[in-house]
Amino acid sequence: MNRTEFEAKLNEVYKGAVKPLTSYVSEHATLVFQCDKCGLKFFGKPNHMIGKEHQQHKCNYPYGDINGERFQIVSSSRNKRKKNSSKATSERFYEMVINDYTPKEIAKELDIPLVLVMDYFNKEGLI
Ligand SMILES: [Zn+2]
Repeated sequence: MNRTEFEAKLNEVYKGAVKPLTSYVSEHATLVFQCDKCGLKFFGKPNHMIGKEHQQHKCNYPYGDINGERFQIVSSSRNKRKKNSSKATSERFYEMVINDYTPKEIAKELDIPLVLVMDYFNKEGLI
C-alpha cells in the first residue's frame, strides 16, 4: 500500500474526516492523525486506521493500541473542545515520546497506566 492508496482508503472509511498530520512512511509506521468530527489528534497505524473496526478511530477516543484498548474516554462537548484535557494529554504524550522521555516519566506526568505506555513503546520498537 502506498501513500495515495492509503489516503484514498482513509477517506473512504472516515468520509474525509480523518487526516494524517505526519507523513506516511509505511502501513506499520505510526502516524498522528486529526479527526475533524471530534477534533482529536491521536496516534494510529495506517493498517489499523483502515483495518478492523476495533482498530479504527472512534470519535472522542484519543488513542487506541494494537488490541483496541483505549487510554480514556474524552468528553464530547463541542464547546469545551479547545480545552479538552484528554486532547492535551494526547498531544503531550506525543511530545514526550519524541523528546525521549522514559515510559515511567510519561506515565507519571500524564497519570496514565505505565502498562499502556510500555505497550506503546514495545509495539513501536522504542525500547
Ligand atoms: Zn473523531
